[in-house]
Amino acid sequence: MMMLMKSLPALALVCLLVTFAAAAGTATSSPSDAGMLGFTASGAHAEQSLEQRFDALLDPADQRRWLQQMSSQPNQVGSPHDKANAEFMLAKFRQWGWDAHIETFSVLYPTPKKVALELLGPHPFTATLKEPALAGDATSGMPGGLPPYNVYGGDGDVPGELVYANDGMPDDYKELSRRGIDVRGKIVITRYGGGWRGLKPKLAQEHGAIGCLIYSDPRDDGYAQGDVYPKGGWRPAQGVQRGSVEDMQQYPGDPLTPGYGSTAGAKRLAIKDARVILSIPVLPISYADATPLLQSLQGPVAPPSWRGALPITYHAGPSVARAHLTVLSNWTQQPIYDVIAMIRGSTAPDQWIVRGNHHDAWVFGVWDPLAGNVALLAEAKAIGTLVKQGWRPQRTLVYASWDGEEPGLLGSTEWAETHAKELQAKAVIYVNSDTNGRGFLDAGGSHSLQHLVNQVANGVIDPETRVSVRERLRARMLVNGSRPDAKPEAKAIAKLAEAGGDVPIQALGSGSDYSAFLEHLGIASLNLGFGGEDDDDGIYHSRYDSFDHYVRFGDPDFAYGVALSKVAGHIVLRTADASLLPMRFGDFSNTLDRYVGELHKLVDSTRKATAEQHRLLDLHAFTLDSDPTRPLLPPVRDSDMPAIDLAPLDRAAAKLHKSAQVYEAAYAGRVATGLALPEAQQQRINTLMGRMEQALTDPDGLPRRPWFEHMIYAPGMLTGYGVKTVPGVREAIEARRWSEADRYAVVTAHVLDGYRAQLDRLTAMLKSPR
Ligand SMILES: [Zn+2]
Repeated sequence: MMMLMKSLPALALVCLLVTFAAAAGTATSSPSDAGMLGFTASGAHAEQSLEQRFDALLDPADQRRWLQQMSSQPNQVGSPHDKANAEFMLAKFRQWGWDAHIETFSVLYPTPKKVALELLGPHPFTATLKEPALAGDATSGMPGGLPPYNVYGGDGDVPGELVYANDGMPDDYKELSRRGIDVRGKIVITRYGGGWRGLKPKLAQEHGAIGCLIYSDPRDDGYAQGDVYPKGGWRPAQGVQRGSVEDMQQYPGDPLTPGYGSTAGAKRLAIKDARVILSIPVLPISYADATPLLQSLQGPVAPPSWRGALPITYHAGPSVARAHLTVLSNWTQQPIYDVIAMIRGSTAPDQWIVRGNHHDAWVFGVWDPLAGNVALLAEAKAIGTLVKQGWRPQRTLVYASWDGEEPGLLGSTEWAETHAKELQAKAVIYVNSDTNGRGFLDAGGSHSLQHLVNQVANGVIDPETRVSVRERLRARMLVNGSRPDAKPEAKAIAKLAEAGGDVPIQALGSGSDYSAFLEHLGIASLNLGFGGEDDDDGIYHSRYDSFDHYVRFGDPDFAYGVALSKVAGHIVLRTADASLLPMRFGDFSNTLDRYVGELHKLVDSTRKATAEQHRLLDLHAFTLDSDPTRPLLPPVRDSDMPAIDLAPLDRAAAKLHKSAQVYEAAYAGRVATGLALPEAQQQRINTLMGRMEQALTDPDGLPRRPWFEHMIYAPGMLTGYGVKTVPGVREAIEARRWSEADRYAVVTAHVLDGYRAQLDRLTAMLKSPR
């Protein structure tokens, strides 16, 4: 999954230590890099040479071979090749010396039984709903895949007029209603982009539509971006983006087993009671199939920002001609196969480092997810060799290749829910990857891990430029922030990156397998990958996400596959062997300060916008501004805004800031003096550190979605994959639920106070080694 949301302004910001700028073109260490986090000087030395041995064992030819084999046939959930891939990996892990098994779950997995779309009326048209074979793409004509569909949409056979709703996001419906257009009883046609796909049919349903179509406009990932496949990498006329429309903002995983594992005997909801399944039919289509439908629309011309790159005049609708949409599914249970491999730690076996990537795909899935999955396999092979040569990790390594990610993070979520107690007791970090390509390191996750990511990224060389992947990323942040059209977030990131120390990592929303670990269980998590120089948007979730596409437009020599193995592998190795876990809670505190600052700005800007809207309404400005021949109603008057009390958050953040400074000094002092801690005390400290992230959760969860327990990071209810930080407060302000904003300022502050108390305990333990 992942992707397409990568341009969202979700980057997290941090106050950085002011350091001297790194000399251009070299991987210079800053003062904060003085020592390897969590290691004594001699420990760091040993770790460095271990990592060099690990790197020497990574062979790009392995990744190429595994990728070709695993993508040689369609491997969606329930396909024979999906199971064969799990068995292939099981054999490999065992051959490399891992203790491995396959863990199976049974999940609800609807597949298309009947899918049809036609336009009736004077210009009848029947949609092809097929992705044809393409010359130059060897697997594109291969049978065995599923036709394009959106999993977890409803069954339906509906005739209705069409309305174009742009991205299908909340503001788009406001624009429609200002033009007097109602979608009740109609089929809404939306385009990909602007927010997560699953929100499009969900919002259409909430507005009374009877069906929803989602098409890929060439403006977004087709010929307006570059040459289309197979000449270039972008989406051809009949390419379709499949994908899940499960309402994962409520809970991901198997729809019938919310919050617990979908094991053989588990109690299951009736399908009609699973509120994450939509009730209206939804279908993804190509722009070849969408064009006649869009041409049939009448009514007002669509607003400028709604117009795509098709050679037509975009109208909002409705159409006079009716469309007829049929989507009927086989609502069956399917087995999914998680491959789980372990190497037991020598001195702290009850502290687990968990590393995962999914292996199921929509069709062949070479970019998404197998490119990331083979990087994970390469790490496992190298680690197996190190073990055969006599090395043992201090902590236990758990490598996982998940099934069922595409339909709704099924394999990772069901595994995390099944083993929740053990994971909360033992897992200290979860390291995820998914799609991988050429370009820049994309790192997101818990901010206590930001310095670890930076130190590791500072030691891995970018294959194209020969500077460290961190310096390359810094350069991108600086250039992005300098563009004339740069958003405030990009400018702020550039300012932080300028300082020459750590570059900020992003906060995580959702869209890949870290969700259950981070947002449900509160395990410190990272998501890693390379990208930004490739054309993968154009084949995302289509039949053309193939080996042939990848070796032309992805990572032809697998240099970035090896780079991902190095970044993720070094993070795993360091976390496994550090004397004290390589976490810096001061980085979290600094980032939190930033988020609280953003909330104050949000309150101010919302108040200003409300006052301005009220002023213009009182002047009847919208009415007088409207062209009577193209009527545009005034917007609905926003509610008045009372005072919002963020003071509890301010106080909690300020107290945490002080505690974090004291803690960082104690941690640095303890490591600098060679630890000198009794073994048992060191274990106690590490155990407590490993559970710090859990202190950021609230067992009651977020409003209306208790599965999401993390109070600082969550996917947005109205953005989908995109993150909302301090979500209880931020989303309440955005949705104008004023009393809820006040309430969650208190709830979040309470959680932060608990986190601070635990941090103070850690500080005390570091200072007095008893
Ligand atoms: Zn994926």
